[in-house]
Amino acid sequence: MTLGEQAATLLGRMGARMGHGDLACTSPIDGSTLGTVAQASPAEVNDAIAAAHRAFLAWRSVPAPHRGELVRLLCEELRAHKDDLGRLVSIEVGKVLSEGLGEVQEMIDICDFAVGLSRQLHGLTIVSERSEHRMMEQWHPLGVVGIITAFNFPVAVWAWNAALALVCGNALVWKPSEKAPLCALAVQALFERAAARFGEAPDGLSKLVVGAREAGKALVDNPRVALVSATGSVAMGRAVGPRVAARFGRSLLELGGNNAAIVAPSADLDLALRGVAFAAMGTAGQRCTTLRRLFVHDWVYDPFVARLKAAYTSVTIGDPLEPGTLLGPLIDEGAFAAMQRALDEARNLGIVHGGKRVARAGVYVRPALVEMSEQVGPVLDETFAPVLYVMRYTDLGSAIALNNAVAQGLSSAIFTTDLREAEQFVAATGSDCGIANVNIGTSGAEIGGAFGGEKETGGGRESGSDSWRAYMRRATNTINYGRSLPLAQGVSFEL
Ligand code: NAD
Repeated sequence: MTLGEQAATLLGRMGARMGHGDLACTSPIDGSTLGTVAQASPAEVNDAIAAAHRAFLAWRSVPAPHRGELVRLLCEELRAHKDDLGRLVSIEVGKVLSEGLGEVQEMIDICDFAVGLSRQLHGLTIVSERSEHRMMEQWHPLGVVGIITAFNFPVAVWAWNAALALVCGNALVWKPSEKAPLCALAVQALFERAAARFGEAPDGLSKLVVGAREAGKALVDNPRVALVSATGSVAMGRAVGPRVAARFGRSLLELGGNNAAIVAPSADLDLALRGVAFAAMGTAGQRCTTLRRLFVHDWVYDPFVARLKAAYTSVTIGDPLEPGTLLGPLIDEGAFAAMQRALDEARNLGIVHGGKRVARAGVYVRPALVEMSEQVGPVLDETFAPVLYVMRYTDLGSAIALNNAVAQGLSSAIFTTDLREAEQFVAATGSDCGIANVNIGTSGAEIGGAFGGEKETGGGRESGSDSWRAYMRRATNTINYGRSLPLAQGVSFEL
């Protein structure tokens, strides 16, 4: 079976069809065309938003634990189709199969989390300064949540947003990456199956609009979209953030990272090697949390970097559907060109190992390790490919300063067995990132914690902890249960 036939079969099993249209879907596995799909015009995006808004007006009154039941049914569909959807993710964006399946597992995990959360959407009760008064906070649904997703997490990021937004009482409009529309069609079909079994979901509760930037812009500019949750590059966030702010909408931005790790002299080097190798080479360097900068202490630099170079030359590159493959393809030729531009610049500043193209259909590369004496030039940018810049350090304070000396602030890590160093790294004066790990690489976050980053990463938080609050509005209620009307701050206003 060709990859196109496999994709069609998987879609069929999940209740979806490709259809026909002007957007070609390709597989990075061999560059072949999987099929075509229709794109939504800006007018169709606006129609989808209007339908979602009508659905919201009904959905907001459904008790939250009952809304949770819909998410529980969605979770059942995902469990039943984990293999199909995981494989489709691998076919459409080139992730190795275990990572494609892992992405669906993240969807399952966030649905489980959201079902429990649907009974815990709590506010505070606050004492009042006035007698026979009580203050409380309530959290109410926001409205339509617009979800814009990137190619590299074509299904999990929708689920992080959708599961929470739905139990919080919102309706959804999803604009997936134009590089991964088939995964979106499959997820939408699974949602519709869950909604049909639920029986009481209003029409239009979760809409899908396939398209590229123009469709995204229509979503961003529509005043009925109360929250735009946008995942992608810093350039996308720079365009989206101000447009949403101009209409006083809310945005939740999950943008690019330029993540670093420190290998301290006391580190368990075996553990550090695996942590660094997975974080830097996994997903062929195409995660927002991919490790891109590595600071290795002078005392362990030579032995550690020698082992790392050996891992870089021995890693298995090839078809992501084949067992044993660790590195699949880059998403497209554009990604390869960006990688080569960064490496060309790096050649003038350091020593480049690897980074060459592998001769086979699709865009496959050997991962690149670049020894740099300073953090300059391409090291300061996110190149969405497997390029790791390695630098020496002697003093932890300056390594932390270098960790923080880039524009992005997503993920970071230290490998150490020294308690003082570990605590220094996670303290207020340590890493300035949204994620700061000890003895774990920069990638592979669990859904229980809040996920996101600072500075040019956009400041948004998704997934676990109290991230649900981003999908709700807070109302402060003061209730007078007495017969007099004392005014706040002792103000007197006697008529
Ligand atoms: P991208 O910015 O090219 O596209 C992301 C999405 O934004 C796509 O759906 C695209 O159509 C849409 N888009 C682009 N410009 C837009 C505009 N002006 N208005 C509205 N929508 C617009 O990103 P990509 O290449 O798909 O993904 C890779 C990038 O995403 C990397 O920078 C990576 O770090 C980042 N990313 C971040 C996270 C995170 O959680 N922080 C997660 C995954 C990926």
